[in-house]
Amino acid sequence: MMYDDTIAAVATPPGEGGIGIVRISGKDALSVLERIFVPVRPGRWKPYRMRYGHVVDGAGARVDEALAVFMRGPRSFTAEDTVEISVHGGPLVVERVLQQALAAGARAANPGEFTMRAFLNGRIDLTQVEATLDIITARTTTALALAEAQLGGWLSHELRRIRDLLMDPLAYCTALVDFPEDEVEPQDVETPLTAAVQALDTLVATAEQGIIYRQGARATLVGRPNAGKSSLLNALLRIDRAIVTPIPGTTRDTLEETANLEGVPVVLTDTAGIVESVDPVERLGVERSRQAVALADLLLLVVEGASQPVDDDREIVALTRDKRTVLIVNKIDLIDGTDAVQECMAFLKCAYENLRGVPFDATVAVSALTGQGLDMLGATVARLLLGVSSPADGRLVTNVRHRDALARAATHARDALDSFRRGVSPDLVAVDLTAAINAIGEVTGEAVGDDLLHAIFSRFCIGK
Ligand code: GDP
Repeated sequence: MMYDDTIAAVATPPGEGGIGIVRISGKDALSVLERIFVPVRPGRWKPYRMRYGHVVDGAGARVDEALAVFMRGPRSFTAEDTVEISVHGGPLVVERVLQQALAAGARAANPGEFTMRAFLNGRIDLTQVEATLDIITARTTTALALAEAQLGGWLSHELRRIRDLLMDPLAYCTALVDFPEDEVEPQDVETPLTAAVQALDTLVATAEQGIIYRQGARATLVGRPNAGKSSLLNALLRIDRAIVTPIPGTTRDTLEETANLEGVPVVLTDTAGIVESVDPVERLGVERSRQAVALADLLLLVVEGASQPVDDDREIVALTRDKRTVLIVNKIDLIDGTDAVQECMAFLKCAYENLRGVPFDATVAVSALTGQGLDMLGATVARLLLGVSSPADGRLVTNVRHRDALARAATHARDALDSFRRGVSPDLVAVDLTAAINAIGEVTGEAVGDDLLHAIFSRFCIGK
């Protein structure tokens, strides 16, 4: 599909920078460029060849010095003729260049409209659109690698393969409905259907890890005052801090920080200061602690290596009873010798498990002060959150929307297989096969409504 209008937008972030880029896409991109850009050396435009010159206004006056490149559709991001003009990165100058493009016949682009054109022109599917967004918002190198792999198209390719596995059985079942059985060439339906079910199950199974790598998880530090929760939070952030981007809808205060633990963005919440706040707010404090505990995917119970468990801890330990919890024995720098540390750990584990009534998911000895044991702690937290010990191989389903649709596709494909084996009438098998194919189409974007497309593209910024 080709649009008959040409869009333009500033593609670089607002504010001052080294370079600002104005992007133009559509059938008139080149003629807009020719109207607003005067190359130093005259001559015809060759695609993918950068040229030096000046952006000029309608009267021919120079607006800025610039480099410009023309990309011929379909070999461009949008699959349309596209132009990029690089100028000095000041907000006023890029805005003025954009104004020249608009005056020369382009229309101001909507958020995500360049990517939307790439999608609607069939250059990328919806999983790749979402990967583009994930690349922009990635907070850890692992999340970035997963998004890059998805943009590379492994998921699109795998979904096309699965769809094909379902298409033949569907054609066969439809033929059985339309023609008498003896006129239809018998066909093996079970082999492709079994393969499709298996492949869908495999994809769904990767989502548990993938979603955590992409979205992150929450871990809440609990423990008595002075156990070292704040120190530990700071020490974990120092290992390798995730790049924190402001995410709409999350309220961040000083008690929450995102750490990068083995590629997993973990939002650490410190309940220190909440429980310990003075009287008038104490009630509220306890309530907020409980909330932080309730929201957590994992609790980190911090205790002091040198101290004994006391009754004061009873309430805090009770909070952890229904949640996966790591017992962290802190301040081991105050204990002399490895054996003594082991002994202390074993003792506290036993004492706190008695108090808790259920075993901990892991016990780790650390020193927030010296950094000892922190790598082990990071690895333990990541392993518990991911549910596996092996690192990601890059082919993970990372999106809840994808997982849900693929799980539905798997159920329909499995039902179709069962029905076929039980000799259920082919029109009913065909209903399930169609439902499975449609569920896959929701992921690739072949079968999605405008509402979903709007929801996805509205998350993009203008210029992307
Ligand atoms: P919170 O109340 O649980 O947040 O505890 P803090 O992080 O404020 O720490 C309480 C005190 O213990 C501070 O004086 C810290 O310097 C000290 N502390 C924390 N972690 C360690 C550690 O691993 N070793 C030692 N020796 N002191 C620590």
